[in-house]
Amino acid sequence: MNDSFKFKDNFLLGVATASTQIEGGEVDSNWVDWYKQGKIKDSSDPRIADEHYERYKIDTKLMSDMHIKIYRFGLEWARIQPQEGVTDEDVIKHYRDEIELVKSYGIKPLLTIHHFSNPMWFENKGAFLKEENLHYYLEYVKIVVKEFGDLVSEYITINEPNIYAYNSYFFKWWPPGHNKLGEAIKVLNNLCYCHIKAYELIHSMRKEKGYTDTMVSFANHVRVFDPINKKNPWHRFCKKYNELCFQKAASIAMNLGKFKFPLKNKWKIKPSEYSDFIGINYYSRSMFGGIGDSFKENSPRNDLDWEIYPEGIIRVSKDLYDILPRPIWITENGTCDTDDQFRSRYLFEHLQKIAESDLPFERYYHWCFLDNFEWIEGTSARFGIVHVDYETQIRTIKESGKFFTKMIDNNGFTVDMYNRYVKDQTYRIK
Ligand code: BGC
Repeated sequence: MNDSFKFKDNFLLGVATASTQIEGGEVDSNWVDWYKQGKIKDSSDPRIADEHYERYKIDTKLMSDMHIKIYRFGLEWARIQPQEGVTDEDVIKHYRDEIELVKSYGIKPLLTIHHFSNPMWFENKGAFLKEENLHYYLEYVKIVVKEFGDLVSEYITINEPNIYAYNSYFFKWWPPGHNKLGEAIKVLNNLCYCHIKAYELIHSMRKEKGYTDTMVSFANHVRVFDPINKKNPWHRFCKKYNELCFQKAASIAMNLGKFKFPLKNKWKIKPSEYSDFIGINYYSRSMFGGIGDSFKENSPRNDLDWEIYPEGIIRVSKDLYDILPRPIWITENGTCDTDDQFRSRYLFEHLQKIAESDLPFERYYHWCFLDNFEWIEGTSARFGIVHVDYETQIRTIKESGKFFTKMIDNNGFTVDMYNRYVKDQTYRIK
């Protein structure tokens, strides 16, 4: 790199986490249950994770020490409503304290209401698979806005509806471990409804209290879908069909209230605009030459073998911007790099694409602030810019974390930063 470059003046850099992945604690949730069923590859226990529920003061101070100004984090539904119809007031107080602390450091919170985990009482009723259960989620949303609406103006209704639906109801990887495509699509359809209703609810409840700064969206997991051979019509068809079922139909439904194949508008939702910003979780690209996907051959890979494809962050952003032109907030982007050997290069390359783009990027939340409980991979898959020693729970800022702080300080990159943190890093090719 020969020249320094800057982000736009209104561009903010921050970090993201999710409650189940960092908090720990005896929580009666589907993920604790999944652990008890022996489903976590390295047997790590989500009741420990980063013990963030106890250590949130240390973690928030660390975030402030790293000059972070925006923070996306989540609430644990199973803590807030441990049983049907019961709200735990101590938990509400805990989260209020945490949000107030975050804000006292001048860090703006973006609150995720649902991030993959359900209370067991909801899971046992069939969770989002059953239409008659959807009101439980909306009641929970009401509690969130009632209890935290004075402190928080920015909300993610649901994290990655497509990943939740397919991993849990088609691929069997996640609780409840089903394997039916029809169920996955039904869950996705129901989550589209939930997002739209939550969007309306959050806006109307805050408006009633006189707030005019409400921002609501969902965190949309979007991948680049490419055919292995562009000239092969079958490959092109598989790419298109999979893209539609996995992300495109839901992106249109959730943003615009227009339900197209394979989704159905059972509720007569009116077409309108249901997102105030485009929330994007971007990680990788999928290649299609048949029904299932694969990673591109001879491509740079992370420790989970996912392709590292920085150009993709622009391609997915453009596709979503074409559906609904709104400011773009990258609500997650990051990589599994256990020894922090290439994370700085990864950060640099993705953020360089953002800085060079004409699209209205406003925010970037790096996934993740801390190493954490990476769902079925457990704690051995490390995504943090801060290292967690799971024996002692000691946090140590990684080199990539120091690089991140420098990016915040400079609102961009300098040649010195590139030479110090990025130049010598390379990716593994597979
Ligand atoms: C999820 C995170 C997860 C990350 C890395 C996203 O799909 O929202 O919870 O840890 O990807 O796998």
